Amino acid sequence: MVETAVSGPSRVLLAAPRGYCAGVDRAVQTVERALDLHGAPVYVRKEIVHNKHVVRELAKRGAIFVEEETEVPEGEMVVFSAHGVSPAVHDAAASRQLRTIDATCPLVTKVHVEARRFAADGYTIVMIGHEGHEEVEGTTGEAPGSIVLVQTAEEVKDVEVRDPDRVAFITQTTLSVDETAEIIAALRAKFPAIVSSKSDDICYATTNRQIAVKQLARECDLVLVIGSTNSSNSNRLVEVAREHGSASHLIDNHTQVREEWLDGVETVGITSGASAPEELVEQLVELFRERGASDVSELRTVDEDVRFMLPKEIREQLAIGT
Ligand code: SF4
Repeated sequence: MVETAVSGPSRVLLAAPRGYCAGVDRAVQTVERALDLHGAPVYVRKEIVHNKHVVRELAKRGAIFVEEETEVPEGEMVVFSAHGVSPAVHDAAASRQLRTIDATCPLVTKVHVEARRFAADGYTIVMIGHEGHEEVEGTTGEAPGSIVLVQTAEEVKDVEVRDPDRVAFITQTTLSVDETAEIIAALRAKFPAIVSSKSDDICYATTNRQIAVKQLARECDLVLVIGSTNSSNSNRLVEVAREHGSASHLIDNHTQVREEWLDGVETVGITSGASAPEELVEQLVELFRERGASDVSELRTVDEDVRFMLPKEIREQLAIGT
């Protein structure tokens, strides 16, 4: 941990855009509104978004985080996280008479719809994603008999399909844009007839934060990414920064900055994953100000204005004033 009142970088450059995306903002607001409308407890299946700070703050207000819907007492309210759930989870919740609110990001839902459509049309679907990630589990559950998972371009050579002329691909929303392009190229080489809804399903927020961190990395000696270790898009930001010439580390908050990282650093870049609140960025900037940074500015690469409506269960309850 960093001691105070010692020297540090003279310049701090903040990536823009950074931090909360529209899907995370909606999911966090969903739990907050559910608590306002119904009072505690409100159960949440899995971390609502992959950020420890957010989960801790919501837990203080009365949210109870569980791993599975089977842990929720019958008849209680449960919110499904931004990463999405499979139809089997909806069914299990219905059989326990749970009152459900689905905070799945609409951009994840879009991929679920694609998976169902390709499966119904008889395609083998190659999903590019990370094994064990909740989003991949939820999407795979839409068509478990039709989806094969691929994590690297290397793995493409081992992919086997029923009919090479009926193959489609979909992707997790929070992957590395460049790495995914390599995997897609390998798939196209192996299955020339492969189809998709468009080039990939990587969402606007993931894409924009990677564009911003590439630019940031070129101008900084060190890039610090605020995000939790289980946040896919945050981990990708560290990788992209390193690939573009800067040292880079993932931290939950300012207390995790290590003194040795700052040795010889004149310009430090800061960005944050799509599930990391801005107050954590402000605390990190404050740390560097205390250590003598006098030049703090923002490097804006893309403007964002995406917003999503709250889930219909919340909108309906707000409309009737319950
Ligand atoms: S990172 Fe993208 S897909 Fe995930 S919640 Fe945010 S907008 Fe939705």
